[in-house]
Amino acid sequence: MEINLISDTVTRPTPGMLEAMMTAKVGDDVFKNDPSVNALEEKVAKFFGMEASLFFPSGSMANQTAIKLHTQPGEQLICDKYAHVFNYEGGGASFNSGVSCKLVDGHRGMMTAEQVEASVNPPDFYHSPLTTLVCIENTTNKGGGACWDFAELEKIGGVCKEHNLNYHLDGARLWNALVAKNENPKDYGSLFQTISVCFSKGLGCPVGSVLVGSREMMDKALRIRKILGGGMRQSGFLAAAASYALDHHVDRLAEDHIKAKEIGQVLQQMKGVKTVEPIETNIIIFELDESIMSSEHFLEKLAENGISIIGMGQGKLRMVTHMDYTQDMHSKVLEVLQKIG
Ligand SMILES: *Cc1c(COP(=O)(O)O)cnc(C)c1O
Repeated sequence: MEINLISDTVTRPTPGMLEAMMTAKVGDDVFKNDPSVNALEEKVAKFFGMEASLFFPSGSMANQTAIKLHTQPGEQLICDKYAHVFNYEGGGASFNSGVSCKLVDGHRGMMTAEQVEASVNPPDFYHSPLTTLVCIENTTNKGGGACWDFAELEKIGGVCKEHNLNYHLDGARLWNALVAKNENPKDYGSLFQTISVCFSKGLGCPVGSVLVGSREMMDKALRIRKILGGGMRQSGFLAAAASYALDHHVDRLAEDHIKAKEIGQVLQQMKGVKTVEPIETNIIIFELDESIMSSEHFLEKLAENGISIIGMGQGKLRMVTHMDYTQDMHSKVLEVLQKIG
């Protein structure tokens, strides 16, 4: 039994999703006449109570398009030091938009409104880059799947209004936060100017992200997506998978969260484990006490049992639960961890 806990991106389409893909009506989306893509874009916009949305081949491209929409070269965006837009998009903010990032030293990938306010450069101080955008990530990836307190997001929204800043949400795993905290997506839709969401993480699609915003923003985003090479033709096959995921794979994320917590409880009792970060969703980040158990030994023991997990650097290890991680696999993982002790 191969058990892959490296990421929730490893999930594959379910039979039901494949069926939806096989029977999808498609057209040429570059001519904007693919009915399945148009239906998905309407559906996701409605889900967030926003005007429009646009289908993208990746979350990085959706985020990069948002940054381009909200900034001009030379300007600066504010994000947490763990942010995906800064760490894992290949330097796209500077490459595509010519902007710098002011990194905030937040907690588990989350900043406070005070920290954001303190990071805004005074607009009349022409020596500093002009601050024009704040990027949030929910759930936080490098922060261990942590969920924001919505009240803090509202406060940061207030700072953005006061300082005339745009407000973007990287919601690659927003689904997990919505389920874990029982939140209303429309609250997010009314707070942010743009939101990106991924279908290729815990929702099981092979490919696909969506950027949501106003009609005017999405009209502009269409051109940027074209420039970035993201125009796709019969992408309705992929959009059909995303529509299916939205209908069938969101609520079930709660199961992944339970499994993650159960793994956390076992890790906590292991002598070789120093700390386990609080587990709110499907990501488990923990640190070994290397004087008792080295990472190499631990990873080797797991590998012997067909279990793969990933190192995050600085002695941190990560496991991610997901749709293709079955109850049988879960029992095996708990058993193996208990045996390693
Ligand atoms: C996965 C992810 C993305 C998008 O990644 P792609 O691989 O480009 O789809 C963006 N933000 C966060 C927080 C992510 O975890």
